[in-house]
Amino acid sequence: MSGPRFRFAPSPTGFFHVGGARTALWNWALAHNQGGTFVLRIEDTDEERNRPEWTQGIIDALAWIGIGADDPCFEGPYFQSHYAEAHVAAAHQLYEQGNAYYCDMTPAEVEARNKIEGNQGYQGWSRNLSLGPGPGRVLRFKVPAGSTTVHDLVRGEVVFDNALIEDFVLLRSNGNPMFLLANVVDDVNMRISHVVRAEEHLPNAPKQQMIWDALGHQPPVWAHVPVLVNEARKKLSKRRDKVALEQYRDEGYLPDAMVNYLMTLGWTPKGDSEIAPWSEMERDFRLEDVNHSPAFFDLKKLAAFNGDHIRMLSTIDFYEACKPWLFGPNAPFPRSGFDEAMFLAMAPHIQPRCVTLADAAGVVDFLFQPEPVVDEASWTKVMGAAEAAPMLAGAIAAYTALTAWAAEPLKQALEAVGEANGLKLGKAQAPVRVAVTGRTVGPPLFEALEVLGRDETLRRMRAAEARL
Ligand code: GLU
Repeated sequence: MSGPRFRFAPSPTGFFHVGGARTALWNWALAHNQGGTFVLRIEDTDEERNRPEWTQGIIDALAWIGIGADDPCFEGPYFQSHYAEAHVAAAHQLYEQGNAYYCDMTPAEVEARNKIEGNQGYQGWSRNLSLGPGPGRVLRFKVPAGSTTVHDLVRGEVVFDNALIEDFVLLRSNGNPMFLLANVVDDVNMRISHVVRAEEHLPNAPKQQMIWDALGHQPPVWAHVPVLVNEARKKLSKRRDKVALEQYRDEGYLPDAMVNYLMTLGWTPKGDSEIAPWSEMERDFRLEDVNHSPAFFDLKKLAAFNGDHIRMLSTIDFYEACKPWLFGPNAPFPRSGFDEAMFLAMAPHIQPRCVTLADAAGVVDFLFQPEPVVDEASWTKVMGAAEAAPMLAGAIAAYTALTAWAAEPLKQALEAVGEANGLKLGKAQAPVRVAVTGRTVGPPLFEALEVLGRDETLRRMRAAEARL
C-alpha cells in the first residue's frame, strides 16, 4: 500500500498507559484520513523490564479501542527484538562510514574526568584515537558541528545546538544496540514517514535525525504531542495516577467514551460538541490543530463522557455492554435470579443514571435478589417513622385492589394513600421503596414496581409490614 506510514512503538514494560492510547489513536486517525498505514511495533529490547503478558496487554487494549489487525490499514505487530542483526549492521555501517567511533572509557572514567574538568556529559575524548571494536568498548555517534533543525508538526521548527549534544552511544560495550539506534533502524526499514509520539521523546529527535541522515535516508515528519497531566498539573504517573487503560475497561468505561475522551486531550472535534463519533474524529483529526500545552486528564470529564455515551446506546446495546457486570463473579444477584425481560424493561430508566456500566447491576439488583438486601440505616430512618405502618398498610390494600398494574396507576394509588395520611408523594413512597428495594435511593419507583410485578411487590411489602 502506498501513502504515509505511521507507527506506534510501545515498550511492553507495564499496563497500557492512557497517554500511549491517545498517541495510538491519533496515529490511527491520521493513517485513516491520509490513506496510509498504521504499523504496530513492540519495542521489546529491554530484557529486564519487558514481560510477554504486557505485550499481550497492549494488543488487547488496542483492540478494545478499535485498533487491530482486522482493519486493512493495520500492519504488524512487529517485534523489535527480531531485528537485532539489522540494528548492529546499521551501527557497523555508521562506523565504516566514519560517522561513529569506538570508545573504551567506562561511565566511571567519564564521570571522574568530568569532575576534574568541571564538565558534564561525554566530551568526545576518544574521537580521534582510531580505536577498533573490542571488549569493553562502546560505539559512539560522531555528532557533527553546527545545529539540527527538527521540523515538528506540533512544535514548529525546533533548532538544537549540536555542541550541546554529546557523542551518544549506539552500541553498548556488550555489543547490544541502544534504544535510539534500534528505534531509527526499525523506522527506516519499516519505511516510516511520520513519527508521532510523546513529547518526552523530543530531545531524542535531533540525535535520531542525525542517524537518519547518516544512514542516507530522508528523516520522517516529526510530531511530538503534549503530555497528559493530573489535577495538580503534574505529568501522569503510574505511581500517583490511574493510568492503565485496562483499569478503565474493567471499571465499566465504554470504549467509545474512552476513545472520544482521549481524542480530545489536546485536540477539539470540529462539530458543535466534544461528544463525537469516531467516524468524524477520524476524518477531521489534524496534527496542525493539536494544542501545545499539556492536556489535563480530567477524571470527572471522562466520567461525564462515559455517561453521555452510555445514554446514546440502544437498550439492547446497553444490555450487551452491561453483561460482564450482570453475570460476572461480582454480580450482586445469582444468575438464576436474573430475568432478561425485566432488565430490558428497566433499562431505559437506569441508563440515564449510570456513570459506568458497572453501576447498572447495583441499581437493578433488588429485582433479581430473592430478598432485597436491606440497608439497615435506611430501614431505621424510614420504617422507624410514625407514618411507615399506616402507609404500608394503605399501600398494600390499594395495590391489592389495583386493576391495571402499571407505573402511572401505581403512582396515583400511592398518592391517594399518602394524601389520606397527610403526606406528599416523596414521603409517602419512602416506606414502599425501602420495603421493595431495601434502600432509600434507586431507579424510578413505580416503573420498578411495574417490572417487579404485583405478587412479588405485595409479598415484599407484607414481609416489611411484618418486620415493623
Ligand atoms: N518505545 C518508545 C516508548 O514506548 C517509543 C519511542 C517512539 O515512539 O519513538 O516510549
